[in-house]
Amino acid sequence: MPKMFTMDDLRIKLQERQHKMTPQRQTVLQIFLDRPGKHLSAEDVHGLLRDEHSEIGLATVYRSLELLSDLGILQKMEFGDGCSRYEVNTTDPSQHHHHHLICTSCGKVLEFEDDLLDDLEHDIMEKSQFKIHDHQVKFFGICKECQEKK
Ligand SMILES: [Zn+2]
Ligand SMILES: [Zn+2]
Ligand SMILES: [Zn+2]
Repeated sequence: MPKMFTMDDLRIKLQERQHKMTPQRQTVLQIFLDRPGKHLSAEDVHGLLRDEHSEIGLATVYRSLELLSDLGILQKMEFGDGCSRYEVNTTDPSQHHHHHLICTSCGKVLEFEDDLLDDLEHDIMEKSQFKIHDHQVKFFGICKECQEKK
């Protein structure tokens, strides 16, 4: 498993940039650390914070998410519904750990671990002399639950 960012990394990265480690930034990151494998929007994070009786407003959540993704700790993703989602990043950006399956019916995002694309990358490099250092793939379709609802 690739190494993921932690709260200590946030502290170090903020220090490097002379930014303060505020309780809000810490709380927002903690939401993700407590929920591995979740892909959360600003509204999702805000809702979870409200459930935990936190007073952090939506605008602060937006700003914290932007900062955390600028620092590379969170990865910002677009899944075609106009609503950005975030997840904790791997410390080595070339070591992505999964691909995404997006349900176009309920908007759920699933992860797919098996990466058969390394072989494909190898093929492409050999045939086209193109040196690949990463790839991004999104699969759009209908999840199992939505299929059963039909
Ligand atoms: Zn679905
Ligand atoms: Zn993911
Ligand atoms: Zn891959």
